[in-house]
Amino acid sequence: MTRDSRYDILFEPVRIGPVTAKNRFYQVPHCNGTGYRYPHTQAAMRGIKAEGGWAVVNTEWCSVHPSSDTTPTANARLWTDEDVRANALMTEAVHHHDALAGCELAHAGLHAHNRYTRIPAMGPSIRPQPPQDFPGQGRAMDKKDLRSIRRWHRYAVRRAIEAQFDLVYVYVGHSLTIFTDFLSPRINQRTDEYGGVLENRTRLLRETLDEVMEEADGRCAVAIRFCVDEQQGPAAIDAEDGRAVVEMLAEVPDLWDVNVGGHDDMLGSRFRKEGWQESGVAFVKQMTSKPVVGVGRFTSPDTMVSMVKRGILDFIGAARPSIADPFLPKKIEEGRPEDIRECIGCNICLASHTLTVPIRCTQNPTMSEEWRRGWHPERIPKRVTDAKVLVIGAGPAGLEAARAAGSRGYEVVLAEAERELGGHLNGIARLSSLAEWLRVRDWRISQIQKMVNVEIFRESRLDAGQVIDFGFDHVIVATGSHWRRDGVGANNFSPIEGHDKAHILTPDDVLSGAEIHSPVVIFDDDPYVIGGALAELLVKNGHVVTLVTPSPLVSSWTQFTLDQPHIHRRLVSLGVEVVLNHNLSMMGETVVELAGMYGEIASCRDASTMVLVTMRSPDDGLIHDLNQRIERGQAPAIRSLTAVGDCLAPCLLSEAVFSGYKAAHDLDAGEAKDLQFRIEQVSASYEPDLP
Ligand code: ADP
Ligand code: SF4
Repeated sequence: MTRDSRYDILFEPVRIGPVTAKNRFYQVPHCNGTGYRYPHTQAAMRGIKAEGGWAVVNTEWCSVHPSSDTTPTANARLWTDEDVRANALMTEAVHHHDALAGCELAHAGLHAHNRYTRIPAMGPSIRPQPPQDFPGQGRAMDKKDLRSIRRWHRYAVRRAIEAQFDLVYVYVGHSLTIFTDFLSPRINQRTDEYGGVLENRTRLLRETLDEVMEEADGRCAVAIRFCVDEQQGPAAIDAEDGRAVVEMLAEVPDLWDVNVGGHDDMLGSRFRKEGWQESGVAFVKQMTSKPVVGVGRFTSPDTMVSMVKRGILDFIGAARPSIADPFLPKKIEEGRPEDIRECIGCNICLASHTLTVPIRCTQNPTMSEEWRRGWHPERIPKRVTDAKVLVIGAGPAGLEAARAAGSRGYEVVLAEAERELGGHLNGIARLSSLAEWLRVRDWRISQIQKMVNVEIFRESRLDAGQVIDFGFDHVIVATGSHWRRDGVGANNFSPIEGHDKAHILTPDDVLSGAEIHSPVVIFDDDPYVIGGALAELLVKNGHVVTLVTPSPLVSSWTQFTLDQPHIHRRLVSLGVEVVLNHNLSMMGETVVELAGMYGEIASCRDASTMVLVTMRSPDDGLIHDLNQRIERGQAPAIRSLTAVGDCLAPCLLSEAVFSGYKAAHDLDAGEAKDLQFRIEQVSASYEPDLP
């Protein structure tokens, strides 16, 4: 297929100072939980992005000095000459596919907790170190420290060039760096020439940028990553100051990589839609002749073209869209944009980074598995036998298993009990706030529909006898799970008194359209999104809603995806009563009793409908039945039986997709080895010929 000429503009080369990007697809720096700890994992992942057509592929945050130590997070670093080799693995991988490699040099200032190096943090003024719950303070920098910051950036540029980077950054964004500390009028209380008026607060940035330009000396390009309006957060550089900084430095760097919103820059799809940053960054191109990169979770080529044609951006910046589909540019170039696996904005990638493990992606199960398992987002080993595969259940796990097995060339039958494919995602469709999550279902269905070797049977609830009679060689069971209706969960080990009342519903009931009567009490003992999302749905439908949770935070795990404070704020703004730190002790006909987690006096709430969001039970009857029959020798044709997704262990959507992919990848692979993937060791080297 050939590319649609409407998209030609996206494939024009763009000059960045002394180097040229072959097209306008630009993977902005993004954290990935690998850094110095897993350099081969990082190199292979970035290399595959380059293979997928991104013209510029950047590192994540790369620390310039041990006084900027973010341990336990494993970011990149260029502290020593030894670090050069680790980073060179990545540049080698990126150059192998004819892309430019960039390095986001950074110093964390007051944010550096220096847990590994034990160096006291420093900033413009003495301050408690963010985040606020850290019991340490940073010291105020003297003139010698200011010189050190400039020198460390200079040395890091030298090392970056030695590691073959084509582009280096000065990082001034996300309320996270020494430069945002200095720019902030709140944090910077200095009375010398580095504090006070904006020009003074910009001085350290300006001096460092000048020195970085001087050090680079045309051997690599220099970019600035700048948040033009922090909107919130400790630094809180407002739009007016942001604009003035762009004006002051407009022609200094070779490229402007701009964003808005501080940490909210990366909020999930529940709160931010494609292209949302446009109004905040549009002015930058009017102020500089240098190329401008911006982000906005772009997945639509038409939106991308419009950003360039209307003079908003020169480069289409992407972090998450490049994680969900490293081959996004190639798919547009090859005239098949409908194959793009669009990011759903769930921020599981970000959560993995925050939890200091290599990032995973709901849409792309091969993310971070490129080196250790040899997985590739677009290629999967062809089948080695003529075996026939039956996949039972068409939720995300079953759909992915059928798609991946189909891609391997197997004859696949996908049997689904319901008329609609999608499993529990079809319930999610009722939650407008999570609408983009349906891309997980829709992309897989669209891919399967193109395969002549995958046959779908709807309204086909199979039992063990039927499965055995069909005579398939490989059976993958993906029958899902359902929510418990007795209150048992994280905080309750036995059923809650009154759990047999008729007005008690589960999320499955609500999402299937069960009748609801106000007032509604949602008991949310699940740390993820569903309790909060149901509260939002019901209150928007006109109900009076109280959400009770034993946790000190609503949807507590979403603190790792960054959504948590926004979920709470939205519920409050919609009028949901949020009761934290309370368990549910009893459910009566029209009233429920709450018990404080810290000994507060018991209280009551009226409840005409009670929704229990506690834990899920796997629908594992079929897999157990099949296992028993296999053990009794009653299923001689079945060579392998694998449970995947929620019927094995209810978990995140990303894990259901991952297990579906893995089961298909492992077909005919023989017994699983004890050690299923490669471990990073010093002796390993980058291998350009990944599968
Ligand atoms: P997962 O997240 O693990 O993919 P889901 O709950 O989303 O799980 O999907 C499971 C799917 O399996 C549902 O669509 C359900 O209708 C289907 N299913 C459950 N049992 C059977 C069965 N015995 N035969 C066919 N399909 C089944
Ligand atoms: Fe997008 Fe979610 Fe994948 Fe992150 S994990 S890239 S947000 S789909």
